[in-house]
Amino acid sequence: MLTTNPFDDDKLREECGIFGVYDTDGAAAMVALGLHALQHRGQEAAGITSFDGTEFHTHRAMGHVAGNFDREEVIGGLKGRTAAGHVRYSTTGETSLRNVQPLYADLSTGGFAVAHNGNISNATYLRRGLVGRGSIFQSTSDTEVIIHLVATSGQRALLDRLIDALRQVEGAYSLICVTSEGLIACRDPLGIRPLVMGKLGESTIFASETVALDIVGAEFVRSVEPGEIIIVNDNGLSSHKPFMRTQARPCIFEHVYFSRPDSIVDGNSVYSVRKAIGAELARENGIDVDYVIPVPDSGTPAALGYAEASGIPFELGIIRSHYVGRTFIQPGDGVRHLGVKLKHNANRNLVAGKKIVLIDDSIVRGTTSLKIVQMMREAGATEVHMRIASPPTMNSCYYGVDTPEREKLLASNMSVEEMRAFIDADSLAFLTIDGLYRALGEGGRDPERPSHCDACFTGDYPTSLTDQDEVMSAGQLKLHAVG
Ligand code: SF4
Repeated sequence: MLTTNPFDDDKLREECGIFGVYDTDGAAAMVALGLHALQHRGQEAAGITSFDGTEFHTHRAMGHVAGNFDREEVIGGLKGRTAAGHVRYSTTGETSLRNVQPLYADLSTGGFAVAHNGNISNATYLRRGLVGRGSIFQSTSDTEVIIHLVATSGQRALLDRLIDALRQVEGAYSLICVTSEGLIACRDPLGIRPLVMGKLGESTIFASETVALDIVGAEFVRSVEPGEIIIVNDNGLSSHKPFMRTQARPCIFEHVYFSRPDSIVDGNSVYSVRKAIGAELARENGIDVDYVIPVPDSGTPAALGYAEASGIPFELGIIRSHYVGRTFIQPGDGVRHLGVKLKHNANRNLVAGKKIVLIDDSIVRGTTSLKIVQMMREAGATEVHMRIASPPTMNSCYYGVDTPEREKLLASNMSVEEMRAFIDADSLAFLTIDGLYRALGEGGRDPERPSHCDACFTGDYPTSLTDQDEVMSAGQLKLHAVG
């Protein structure tokens, strides 16, 4: 039986990528290309909705963009000059076709299709209220709550309905909506998830990352600002900022791991930030070894920065196979323990007899780190040290990132020394939170007004977590009842 590749489960996973275009020939084909560039942000399912001026057309499928949207009979059916699409892992709502986005509804204002990156942290609370007032949900996705709030708003104009809906929502959302009135893009007031705008001739494009603009040959114009709603239609482009201004808190993990290194996120080159992170790590936690070795591919830019700052040679001591698909033999099968070798193999000649420091972006469960350290020892490394290009990941994310429950995060249960013993390294050290902010060009983390969301490291969540608080208090009530 085929299932999700078990060797990808030791990373936090970004949940979604979105891409939309207004006014171009072959809009759906362009969206498919853009989604292809965002495939790293979600590999379970993909969907595209287009609008031809009269009708909306949608195709949604489980699996990758390639294979689903490279067939003429699919792309040819997605007619029109405006389209938006979505790639996803599941954040909330189980993985089934009815949860695959864009989600669509016929509203009194016309058709409305939405592609959402993020997670609504009071979706359960809002949904309960909507169902109580008669709303009938088609999916279990948090995104559908936004559609129902727009549908049931007392406002008349679509923009006012959307503002009314978003004022009730807490959490993270970057949205691209295909509507009868044009393409709408917006970002939550804290700007937790990224969203950028580009231009290709007269066409306007929105995407989760600039790399998707590059792929379609578009020019990067700017980031959509936190709290901004942009409407593009036959009257041109209009920007609206209806929410109270507040300190933006974009996700700092985009710089650590989620975004592609060739993207620009909120004005910063992800590649440059990752190299700067490696340099900070070398300054904070230097070690006398023969080689700096990245855990590929995500540890590579930080390892380059570490090597440059420390003067220790950078070498590829682990070779990654790019041919391990996301489907693989079911966990528990007899060859599961060989899996890490399918993805990563030691460059035996290089590491034998050498002292090495491995650089990885983060430790989630620690299972991959343990196997990689073992692999290096078996290949003959005399000392295996590990340096992590972010602080210990101690808390779950409620903003559109797949994190294991807190108890399964190694750092929430163990001290650094206990983690070192668990992964069997000679030494282990993490970047400090101040070092992470220094890599972003700041003096350190401002505890009063941090410039980013860093809750998975610090526990400082920038929004209320209504649904989570309800779960917690229900748990406590239950405990009281039992006790
Ligand atoms: S909790 Fe972590 S992963 Fe989630 S948005 Fe904040 S920084 Fe990003």
